[in-house]
Amino acid sequence: MTKAVSLFSGGLDSLLATQIIMDQGIEVIAVNFINPFANNKKMKEKQYYARTMSQKMGIELVEIELKENFLDLLRNPKYDFGKNLNPCIDCKILMITQAHEVMKEKRASFIVTGEVLSQRPKSQFLWGLSIIDRDSHLKGLILRPLSAKLLQETIPEQKGWVDRDKLYNFSGRIRGPQFALAQKLGINDYPAPAGGCLLTDPIFARRVYDLLIHDELTMENIELLKLGRYFRLSNQFKLLVGRNEKDNLALLSQAKPEDYVFTPSHTKGPTGLGKGIIDFYTEQLASGIIAYYSSSLIEPLNIKIQHQNYSSPKMVQPITLSLNQIEKYRIENFPIKLIRQNTQKTPQK
Ligand code: SF4
Repeated sequence: MTKAVSLFSGGLDSLLATQIIMDQGIEVIAVNFINPFANNKKMKEKQYYARTMSQKMGIELVEIELKENFLDLLRNPKYDFGKNLNPCIDCKILMITQAHEVMKEKRASFIVTGEVLSQRPKSQFLWGLSIIDRDSHLKGLILRPLSAKLLQETIPEQKGWVDRDKLYNFSGRIRGPQFALAQKLGINDYPAPAGGCLLTDPIFARRVYDLLIHDELTMENIELLKLGRYFRLSNQFKLLVGRNEKDNLALLSQAKPEDYVFTPSHTKGPTGLGKGIIDFYTEQLASGIIAYYSSSLIEPLNIKIQHQNYSSPKMVQPITLSLNQIEKYRIENFPIKLIRQNTQKTPQK
């Protein structure tokens, strides 16, 4: 029996593509990728669907976590970023290359994806798809059942493993044809379209960019970006400030002995997690920011700083900062244009 490996995000397009190929009597192995920036509600929902739907469809699911190999793409994307910090073409090449490994291991003959021609800029335009095919060294072996009739015939079609007449000619952003096909194929349970990963979010992208330019892009730091407010106080020091009790607890749980933990001394307020090399100026700034977000009516308020080198917590009387002064250090306020100017590269074709 012919086998194929399907890129199975759990979204509707991947469900449809997989079902179309299964309906042609081909055994499908699903591969689901978890990237470090997929940790938002919608992406988790898709992962849940990938698990439940693969079970329902009776197919094997292989889950692959992308880690350092994905971060390398951000450090040096061959095909530049999308609108924000999303290196979609490079990301697709990475996923297909990894799926190729599964294909070899499972002795499958080709790869299936739910990509729809021109549904998204760049990576799903014709030139984007052909770059993906070429750079993953799988030209002719990547079948996109939803748009196959608009694309060059692939090897599975030429060899008669797959009947081209039973494939589709969808293109563009409209979703109507996919909904109608889902109904026809009896797929009634699928997540709402989720968009891209967190790198497509302009606010989050600014945070990631800060790590990138300070050479601090690590898996550990990425988890921190998902918490609280983010301030860059110097090239060597950043501060994360909790917005609520949940953030405060999460920041505390992420604190390492070498980090600085800031809290108001006698009142409720945010927890600040400082990372890097502190000096008098950054200590003053960090304390002023924590004081600003504290709900203290006690004057003067002191800020407690804990660090492994201090035998007991250090008490600091914070400087008074206005919102305007604070916002200058908040990463999310840096104009997105700055990111684009600094990261724009000419795609290598
Ligand atoms: S949106 Fe994110 S996960 Fe999706 S292709 Fe682009 S970089 Fe990869």
